[in-house]
Amino acid sequence: MFTAFLIKYAEIGVKGKNRYLFEDALVHQIKFALKKCEGEFDIHKTQGRIYVEAQGSFDYDETVEHLRHVFGISGICPMVYVEDEGFEKLCDTIVKYIGDVYPDRNKTFKVNTRRARKNYPKESMEVNADLGEAILNVYPEMSVDVREPEIMLNVEIREKIYIYSVVIPGPGGMPVGTGGKAMLLLSGGIDSPVAGYMIAKRGVKIDAVYFHAPPYTSERAKQKVVDLARIVSRYTGPIYLHVINFTDIQLYIYEKCPHEELTIIMRRYMMRIAEHIAQDTGCLGLITGESIGQVASQTMNSLAATNEVCKMPVYRPLIGFDKQEIVEVAHRIDTYETSILPYEDCCTIFVAKHPVTKPNLNVIRRHEHNLDEKIEELVKTAVETDELIIVE
Ligand code: ATP
Ligand code: MG
Repeated sequence: MFTAFLIKYAEIGVKGKNRYLFEDALVHQIKFALKKCEGEFDIHKTQGRIYVEAQGSFDYDETVEHLRHVFGISGICPMVYVEDEGFEKLCDTIVKYIGDVYPDRNKTFKVNTRRARKNYPKESMEVNADLGEAILNVYPEMSVDVREPEIMLNVEIREKIYIYSVVIPGPGGMPVGTGGKAMLLLSGGIDSPVAGYMIAKRGVKIDAVYFHAPPYTSERAKQKVVDLARIVSRYTGPIYLHVINFTDIQLYIYEKCPHEELTIIMRRYMMRIAEHIAQDTGCLGLITGESIGQVASQTMNSLAATNEVCKMPVYRPLIGFDKQEIVEVAHRIDTYETSILPYEDCCTIFVAKHPVTKPNLNVIRRHEHNLDEKIEELVKTAVETDELIIVE
């Protein structure tokens, strides 16, 4: 029965002169999201509102599902719209609407009319009263409550007349693309996809880099990362995923540095390479899934040691989250089941039994000098053989 949607957006409403930029970005993201849905849609904004109107047949559930992935949307209101064919006809439409949408009509309601077309023969208050009466005539079990109605029946009179009363929550946040771009260090774990989701939710476009160590990490481990990127891309739009072959660097560190420092030194090279690619691709920051104290490489000391190698801001949206809180988000955004698939990642293979938890920066730097002979060349090769996968 629904034929259109009114899109509500909260945060972007308050951006003053930049407002139209945010609205245009939201329209763009909605168009992108609905490209994958069955049916044609007319998506447009008028007077601070965004409408999605189906042109002919469409799949309601699928459309709502896709809209629920668009950051910037705070609410999705399914609407019925009709041509203005006189007030009698409108009364019939409203009565039918209530009948269809509310099988249980033991409810209080209020009619809330907005008259954007001023030449409409009745004033808003009159429309409210007359439609209310029409409803009560057919459904005497309903009653009016103007303070806290259970059903707020909105009627918007424009060229056409729009009716809506249901609000499906959207994901909130800001439209992707309004906040620049950042490079996500995406592993196959639970945390980094969630971290990417959270930053993207603030309007930031996401590129990603994955450090692959064949044959120590399998093709399936890589495929898992591609799959995770695909799930995240339902929210973020296409993700440019850079796959970096890290094997030689890892083996070289393994050969030259104390094993308990392996993880830290390896992490430092990941950050350096990620920053390098980020700079080349116009990213303004890096994103990781780190959270204080979660593992040895994420103590305050270890984070300081990893952080030290890059100049770009490193965004760590999970920094104060417990694992359980991260898992909850992972479930909500549907990455969890993929994240827990067993394929090893490159860190798990080279981890020492007793990694340092309080790395001393001077010591780490000194041991990194053991790599002087070949590391520059290895990093250069790794960056040059970057495999780009566009995930969407
Ligand atoms: P995750 O669940 O995201 O894998 P984790 O708890 O396993 O995180 P670490 O392995 O210490 O933690 O990694 C910390 C962060 O470093 C990750 O969240 C991710 O951003 C990045 N990272 C780790 N391994 C890789 C990799 N192979 N490729 C890209 N980024 C990685
Ligand atoms: Mg991991």
